[in-house]
Amino acid sequence: MKLEGNVLKKIQHIINKIMPQRINLAHKRKLVFNFANGEAEGDANNRDLLGNKGAGLLAMSKMGLPVPPGFTITTQVCNYFYANTRSYPIDLKNQVNKSLTKLEKSMHLKFGDINNPLLVSVRSGAKASMPGMMDTILNIGLNDQTLQGLIKKSKDQRFGYDSYRRLISMYADVVLQVPMELFEDALSEVKKDLNIDLDTDLSADDLKNLVKTYKEIIIKRGKQFPEDPIEQLWGAIGAVFNSWSNPRAKAYRQLNAIPEDWGTAIIIQAMVFGNKGADCATGVAFTRNPSTGENGIFGEYLQNAQGEDVVAGVRTPLPLNSASDHIVSERSSALDLTFPHIYEKLCDISRKLESFFHAAQDIEFTIESGKLFILQTRNAKITAQAAIKIAVDMVSEGLITKENALLRINSSHIEHLLHPSLDPKVKKNIIAKGLPASPGAVSGQVVFNSKRASELFKIDGRKLILVRSETSAEDIQGMIVSEGILTCKGGLTSHAAVVARGMGKTCIAGCTTIHIYEEDNSFKIGNLIIKEGDYITLDGTTGEVILGQVKTCPPTMSDDFKKIMQWVDNIRRLRVRTNADTAKDAKVGKQFGCDGIGLCRTEHMFFDSRRIDAIREMILADDNIERQKALDKILPMQKEDFIEIYREMLDLPVTIRLLDPPLHEFIPQNDTELAVLAQRIGANFEIIKRKADKLTETNPMLGHRGCRLGISYPEIYKTQVRAIIEAACELNNNEGLNIKPEIMIPLIGDYNELKYIVNYCHEEINQVLKSYKRTLDYEIGTMIEVPRAALTADDIAEYAMFFSFGTNDLTQTTLGISRDDSGSFLPTYLNEKIYTADPFVTLDINGVGELMKIALKKGKDTRSNLKCGICGEHGGDPESVIFCHKIGLDYVSCSPYRVPIAKLAAAHAVLQDKK
Ligand code: PEP
Ligand code: MG
Repeated sequence: MKLEGNVLKKIQHIINKIMPQRINLAHKRKLVFNFANGEAEGDANNRDLLGNKGAGLLAMSKMGLPVPPGFTITTQVCNYFYANTRSYPIDLKNQVNKSLTKLEKSMHLKFGDINNPLLVSVRSGAKASMPGMMDTILNIGLNDQTLQGLIKKSKDQRFGYDSYRRLISMYADVVLQVPMELFEDALSEVKKDLNIDLDTDLSADDLKNLVKTYKEIIIKRGKQFPEDPIEQLWGAIGAVFNSWSNPRAKAYRQLNAIPEDWGTAIIIQAMVFGNKGADCATGVAFTRNPSTGENGIFGEYLQNAQGEDVVAGVRTPLPLNSASDHIVSERSSALDLTFPHIYEKLCDISRKLESFFHAAQDIEFTIESGKLFILQTRNAKITAQAAIKIAVDMVSEGLITKENALLRINSSHIEHLLHPSLDPKVKKNIIAKGLPASPGAVSGQVVFNSKRASELFKIDGRKLILVRSETSAEDIQGMIVSEGILTCKGGLTSHAAVVARGMGKTCIAGCTTIHIYEEDNSFKIGNLIIKEGDYITLDGTTGEVILGQVKTCPPTMSDDFKKIMQWVDNIRRLRVRTNADTAKDAKVGKQFGCDGIGLCRTEHMFFDSRRIDAIREMILADDNIERQKALDKILPMQKEDFIEIYREMLDLPVTIRLLDPPLHEFIPQNDTELAVLAQRIGANFEIIKRKADKLTETNPMLGHRGCRLGISYPEIYKTQVRAIIEAACELNNNEGLNIKPEIMIPLIGDYNELKYIVNYCHEEINQVLKSYKRTLDYEIGTMIEVPRAALTADDIAEYAMFFSFGTNDLTQTTLGISRDDSGSFLPTYLNEKIYTADPFVTLDINGVGELMKIALKKGKDTRSNLKCGICGEHGGDPESVIFCHKIGLDYVSCSPYRVPIAKLAAAHAVLQDKK
């Protein structure tokens, strides 16, 4: 039987998947790519194969920039190395030899030649930059003989011995595992004996002695520095591949979600020397200021030095630019003054690189005998502020399109910009790490209960950090007066997290390593005890708890940021509403440009300390008449809330959800508080206690809550609906507004529930409208937050004018998978953090997402103009927002401070579609 071409391809693909390295690399595959003098092999976009550095060098070589020639060993070799007990593909040696010969020709030098030696550097270079995590060795090719050739040619003994002692120590450290400190100590000792501070003050003889000492150190450790340059080269190649799996590199990859199987490439490049005398230097240049984004090269250099001296901090580097904010004494030695021609050239190269890469670059350069060489270029790591400014500037400079500019900005840039951040220059004493529940950076004095927080705040408005095991409605006042909240239980959608995000307050949740001793007013981490009044700092972006106060930088909403948001608004299709329970939240959401309110949770209004007793009276009432009496007290308060919110939002849509949580959440949990309540509302303690016990839920998530409350006690929802409609009528009558309220029923599982509630709501609304003698556009819709609702959405849509996916509950009730701290997805029941009833913020696309798609389809089959949104926490998560766009939702709704993030994601979604 003849196999079809694509069947063969599929089989080949499967085989490759099973035995990737052995099959692919056993053949004569290209494992090494050369670059030299305006020519280079391979594709500069193939960072997967050549790594970031290799691809950058290839591109620069092709552009004709002054790059020392060399060659790149591909990342595939690294993967082969690990898949095959740290060995190499058969043909690698042959290919490296060929490239080495090529390199010798283009440099007119010979590797290992006694008179005319070629020296090379061996560097790592993965696809993602992993600064300082892997190893590098310089000056490979030097030995006792070639050293003499180098000295003869350079006519500089000092330079020769300096290069040699650097090689020996680096090689010993990286390849032979002889610790660098031993060599550093020997160097310091010599300098101390000679009474000098700087390495540059060491004479040729001093360095010659050091070479001897270094070799002795190695021998003492039972090792030998190899004199054979080829052995040095392969020793270095092996060490650099090995460094891909050193613990530092592994940890870095884990932290930055860099896949293990990317592997590193290795770049072998002819050495150029910045340490050959006064007309030599080495340095780092950014094409734009990496913290402010200001256009113009920025960086540092050192005269008569090799690359690692700039980073090592042995000598203070000098500025490139005399106008930069270095200390005055250093400005006169700035590169633009000491090497003006080189500076001009660097500026020119910087412009060329930016117009090629369309991004700010971080360049490493060396000046050898007055000649400039570029050793590396990569996209610069920049602050959020710089990212925004550079994106906007590059659009006006015609370097990138607006669309590209938007793709450069990510959610963490925006998070950083909208919240104060810790001053990066300050050293931090991190004492614990929890979940980064709400971003920002705040310092304050520790306080352990909300009442005490309010008292302390009243005294002098002091800055407080509320530390609680977990928070509840009773803690709202404490949260309001605190700068930040730290809890040891609960996850990213715990009460503390949701409320803090809504308030724009910093919060770290689920910090399990702290133990609170409320009776002592203290908490403990290991042996460290923190008492009330002690200062701590929270970094809500990283989840770090830091001892003491740390200086912060305030947030800024620059003109550039506003411009970016305008572009976002012009591109996105998805509307972005905010979750807002108060006029204050609504105002913040509006400042960030929300398109309305997608979820106003009315229970948060009930928790207000001035109202909670009326609510409790309503809950504890013996009969409907008593209940109605209590509700009559609540009605004007609710109405006032809605008036304030409508006024804030004007013509923007407002979705108000009727009461959702189980009633026991409103009732004090312990006897002391119950006794106080009984006295305050004039009731008998025993009776109150019995009623409270009766209300206790065994399953508060699915128990007597949501629409079930509205079925048991229609008068609660009727009162709420009345308040919603009266508020709208009054504003429309008196202030000429055109409010069209959207009323949302929570936790519907069956259309009959909705039918019953919608019917009595319409009746109540009609009564109100009659009394106001007017008509009103309003909508009644429902949340889809249990699987049954999703699966019967066609029936439900008969009675709902809109759906809002309550993905917090829908994730729980679907046992959706969720991401754990390390970023991997786990089934809900295996994820400890989630097991405590907190869905994670990234939507479980395959589980919950599928249900959403079913519900959308069924809902729209019944009602083609059904408006659909999402109001779970996922509405503020970029990945989930993109999913919502893809499946065709009309809007997402999220905490006010996440509105710009969701908007950006909505724009990214459109740009992804275009791709
Ligand atoms: C939800 O379940 O997604 C939702 C928004 O409701 P709540 O978080 O108030 O239960
Ligand atoms: Mg819900």
